[in-house]
Amino acid sequence: GVRDTDPPTLFDKIISGEIPAAIVKQDDKMMAFKDINPAGPAHVLIIPKDRNGLTRLGKASVEHKEILGHLMVTAAEISNDKSLGFGDGARIVVNDGPDGGQEVMHLHVHVIGGRAMQWPPG
Ligand code: 5GP
Repeated sequence: GVRDTDPPTLFDKIISGEIPAAIVKQDDKMMAFKDINPAGPAHVLIIPKDRNGLTRLGKASVEHKEILGHLMVTAAEISNDKSLGFGDGARIVVNDGPDGGQEVMHLHVHVIGGRAMQWPPG
């Protein structure tokens, strides 16, 4: 976004195609691709193409409602896609900031499945 002054991340290079990724779904607003280090038999990351200040979920405000809803509906669609290795349900996670274990500062939704998850996570 034009007001997004935070440093770029490697996800910008995935969006531009500079770094290859196994893209499973995309449109003008979001991209979904396989995680390079999957935490289960199926692991997809969903990101907004325009970060627009959303380095992390904790930066969200009312202006982000539409994209956040779009990311979550996409997470539902992906979690139902048996061809990607998902079973009945998934762990759908947003890691937010240092205490949340976030490493890439470009908001992303993890959709992890294909095995039964435990709660709480580590
Ligand atoms: P975070 O810890 O920020 O919530 O998750 C970042 C995720 O990005 C991790 O699960 C990590 O495996 C994934 N990741 C890091 N670098 C790459 C990459 O170059 N390509 C892909 N497809 N995933 C990556």
